[in-house]
Amino acid sequence: MQWLFLLYSRFFDNILISFMNNRIKQNNLKTPFDIVENCSPLWKKIFAEAVRDPAELCRRLEISNEHVDLNSNFPMLVPEPFLQRIKPKDPLDPLLLQVLPRKEESAVSPDFTTDPLGENGHLSPEGTLSKYHGRSLIVTGKACSIHCRFCFRRHLPLPEIEENSISSGSGIHPEIIAARFKADPTLHEVILSGGDPLMLSDRQLQDLIFHLDQVPGIRRIRIHTRMPIIIPQRLTENLLSLLSNHKRYGKRAKMIVVLHVNHPNELDSGVSRSIEELMDSGCILLSQTVLLRQVNDSLPVLAELFERLIDLGVMPYYLHQLDRVAGAAHFEVSPEEGCDLITKLRRLLPGYAVPRYVREIPGEPGKVVLK
Ligand code: SF4
Repeated sequence: MQWLFLLYSRFFDNILISFMNNRIKQNNLKTPFDIVENCSPLWKKIFAEAVRDPAELCRRLEISNEHVDLNSNFPMLVPEPFLQRIKPKDPLDPLLLQVLPRKEESAVSPDFTTDPLGENGHLSPEGTLSKYHGRSLIVTGKACSIHCRFCFRRHLPLPEIEENSISSGSGIHPEIIAARFKADPTLHEVILSGGDPLMLSDRQLQDLIFHLDQVPGIRRIRIHTRMPIIIPQRLTENLLSLLSNHKRYGKRAKMIVVLHVNHPNELDSGVSRSIEELMDSGCILLSQTVLLRQVNDSLPVLAELFERLIDLGVMPYYLHQLDRVAGAAHFEVSPEEGCDLITKLRRLLPGYAVPRYVREIPGEPGKVVLK
């Protein structure tokens, strides 16, 4: 019986693929394998030239490195477009605090662990993680456009993705993942997370999205990314058509992009333009923010951030309570303070502009809303 089912599903898949290929030819669309990818696009150059030495960052910003950890195990990474938004001579700049390794990171706090969400060891060999009903997460690699000091995955050994070898390299394997997802009728949404999924090359992303679009049950592909905020140059024409809900060939699933943004100063004119382009491509846009001590734990800052996001067409989705990862204790805001801020935000802003204040608890079937 099972082999008959497999035979049938393979037969219908082939019909679907040949139908899509005909449509591609008739409409002169890009096939999955003829994407014109610039070998060294500007965003890769920007990433390669990011500042990685904390002493150099301090020099550039004219601040003392007295409280800076110059040899952190979680290396610093700050690309130029983000650096340009940090105010010089201000050691407490809210963007700087998110990226500069400080000596406080080595303070030992017993409740802060290397794997606060208990993810280690739960990744499948293909790089997937099934945490929630009906959804599956693909960890696309460990590369990020920036290193946030509070990242809950900062200690996790995530799989490496080799450039241009998503199918054959040591990373994730779209065909195997798609076959696995096809066999799970309960699955409706795939979440691409990382690292940052937009660190994959266009070709890698195209291969992955193409295969996910072949899975009949998948209705939504959700991409969690900080890239459009950190290096807005990443949103090339190629990438926008790959993500587009209007132009994507063979589109079956709706594309949702969740932008990680923590402070209104992150939203300069370049970032605003990149968000508008994403909007034009028809993606559903949501945001997520981590509540961080000294960065955004104030009513005016959060109110301005959420209003600016709404103005750009992004719905504030989550305000996260910090995950208790080792090295990030100094960023923690208590849940009581967080609830107080949310209550005040509700009085100040329309309901749709106030995100859900949530915390993730290992083993829980979903995020827990803090009230
Ligand atoms: S962008 Fe996200 S995954 Fe990358 S370092 Fe920051 S918090 Fe971690």
